[in-house]
Amino acid sequence: MSDTVNEKVRCLIIGSGPAGYTAAIYASRANLSPVLYEGIQPGGQLTTTTEVENFPGYPEGITGPELMEDLKKQAVRFGTDVRYGHATATDLSAAPYKVTIDGEKVIEAETIIISTGATAKYLGLPDEQKYAGMGVSACATCDGFFYRKKTVAVVGGGDTACEEALYLAGLAKHVYLIVRKPFLRASKVMQERVFKAENITVLFEHNTLGLFGENGVEGAHLVKRMGESDEEKVDIAIDGFFLAIGHTPNSDIFKPWIETDSVGYIKTIPDTPRTNVPGVFAAGDVADPHYRQAITAAGSGCKAAMEAERYLSELGK
Ligand code: NDP
Repeated sequence: MSDTVNEKVRCLIIGSGPAGYTAAIYASRANLSPVLYEGIQPGGQLTTTTEVENFPGYPEGITGPELMEDLKKQAVRFGTDVRYGHATATDLSAAPYKVTIDGEKVIEAETIIISTGATAKYLGLPDEQKYAGMGVSACATCDGFFYRKKTVAVVGGGDTACEEALYLAGLAKHVYLIVRKPFLRASKVMQERVFKAENITVLFEHNTLGLFGENGVEGAHLVKRMGESDEEKVDIAIDGFFLAIGHTPNSDIFKPWIETDSVGYIKTIPDTPRTNVPGVFAAGDVADPHYRQAITAAGSGCKAAMEAERYLSELGK
């Protein structure tokens, strides 16, 4: 990391999802003159969804990109300096902290709010891209509502997959849970709930080869016991295909300094957005393996900005 500091800021917000923009709204209204870098996916994960119907305040729903545009406008209205750029390295060994943007510019920040989010994992099939927004989703809570009384599949065998399958089972006519192993990795209690649900069929030892459909997903090509002598190809008719094979929190550049759990989620002091480094806060999905909702991210962004303001005022800055 270069030692040449190009700019000094009081509050640097990294990431532009609901956590980052909410932190920006609060930080700018508290006169912290925040600078926000949008990252490689401006607007975050919500820009990949269509309708958002569970964000309070929008009785008719709103599209993900529109919601993010509104949050951005609100942050800019109070003076947030929103910039296109991606944080590529950090030095959080001592305050003020250094963050490199796009491998070039170095910013020195009194406080940092990390809101870099998490990225849902996909199987890597070309059909996932082909049917993006047309039947493929990585968030049942976001998109499940569109599959009422329809048939859907969820891929994965962990707690998230079970949770998503159970959530969808409350809406859809039928849910297939596609599990590559002969057992579920999820906690016992979640497994029991899945096995008890009458409209969930668990397809153990199944892998997905591809999807098919004219104007959206109409089915999936699966293979049972792939690579074994009794391998068998199976097609299922479905309207929606949900990935629940885990998320990757975008925390790599902070790991030399910031404590994370074994998956990479940033550890915060319980009930606060404080990390182990004073003046560095984490908000939204990068620190949340459990809820991962726009509204919970927004709430934690608010807390992070309030903490940043208190931290600076206690230092008399
Ligand atoms: P996990 O890593 O626990 O599970 C991922 C699942 O996806 C595994 O079953 C894995 O299969 C499967 N998988 C991964 N890659 C592929 C692939 N390429 N093809 C097919 N299947 C694949 O992730 P989760 O998101 O479920 O959970 C993350 C953490 O959050 C866990 O600690 C979990 O306990 C926790 N959590 C807790 C909840 C709760 O308590 N209510 C709710 C949600 C999450 P395999 O088993 O074969 O590796």
